[in-house]
Amino acid sequence: MGQTKAGAIKVNANKLGISVEEYNQKVESGLKNCFRCKQWLSLDLFRSDKSRYDEKNPSCTKCRNAYCRSRHKSIPKELRKPLGPPPSPCRDGDKRQARARVNHRIKAGKLPHPNSLACVDCNHFGSDKRHEYDHYKGYAGIHHLEVECVCTSCHGKREKQRHDSQQATE
Ligand SMILES: [Zn+2]
Ligand SMILES: [Zn+2]
Repeated sequence: MGQTKAGAIKVNANKLGISVEEYNQKVESGLKNCFRCKQWLSLDLFRSDKSRYDEKNPSCTKCRNAYCRSRHKSIPKELRKPLGPPPSPCRDGDKRQARARVNHRIKAGKLPHPNSLACVDCNHFGSDKRHEYDHYKGYAGIHHLEVECVCTSCHGKREKQRHDSQQATE
């Protein structure tokens, strides 16, 4: 399949602008012309490639590595796969997961720290009371990131209210 050895040599010699004799002399002295840097280099600077007529890769290892690196670099950041496993799906009713998700977003800077916001219920602002994110829509998977910032006292009131209304419907 493909080119014959003689044919390949002729093509290569032509490309380099030398005669087949010259080309053969180089090859006989243990050299190979790199397809990329066009230099005559020792055969052991080429990786083996069984599909080639001389069982060697057409470019030297140095050029090959540089080429692979340049190709690697050209992949834009947004197209690269994210590292690590994909985030697990939001599980309905999983309080711990919902809270962990919110905490993770605070740490990642995607949500402001609750203490830097005013309480949506009483408008309290300041470091004398702790603020928390309340999952005001509940812990269904689709509401895991729907939170409101409230102070601990208002959060407590909200939780009592939710508890009472749940008892009333039961
Ligand atoms: Zn090279
Ligand atoms: Zn409050």
